[in-house]
Amino acid sequence: MTEVAPRITPPLDELNRPFWTGGASGVLQITRCRSCRRWVFPLSATCPDCGGPTAYEATSGKGSVFTHTTNAHPYNPAVPLPYNISIVELVEQPGLRFITNVVDCPPEDVHVGLPVHVQFEQHGEVFVPVFVPDGNVRPAS
Ligand SMILES: [Zn+2]
Repeated sequence: MTEVAPRITPPLDELNRPFWTGGASGVLQITRCRSCRRWVFPLSATCPDCGGPTAYEATSGKGSVFTHTTNAHPYNPAVPLPYNISIVELVEQPGLRFITNVVDCPPEDVHVGLPVHVQFEQHGEVFVPVFVPDGNVRPAS
């Protein structure tokens, strides 16, 4: 397994646990409305559109870079610099975006529209979703 930098991981609760632990089985799960079928992120127990209840469903884990930046400021001295910060939009739904990191790729190679797919960094019971460019497959550990 590739060495990963330390992260501050979120406290798990009933709502967010499937999101943060789905990586144990390699699946990025997100809440989805049971009524209108809209994917809902940030995670929510109810749909912001129709008020219907949500349930977790597996996404494809595929998306593209919506926007990005490179951080070169040592906010956390334990994290090697520079590193990418991106907003990735999943293929499931326009606007289904979240802040993440594109990894296993020099930050200068990341561009808007770059096709990416999810991988997970394990930190204890939390599996942080990060993304790698398509065609850039991390060697098996
Ligand atoms: Zn809905």
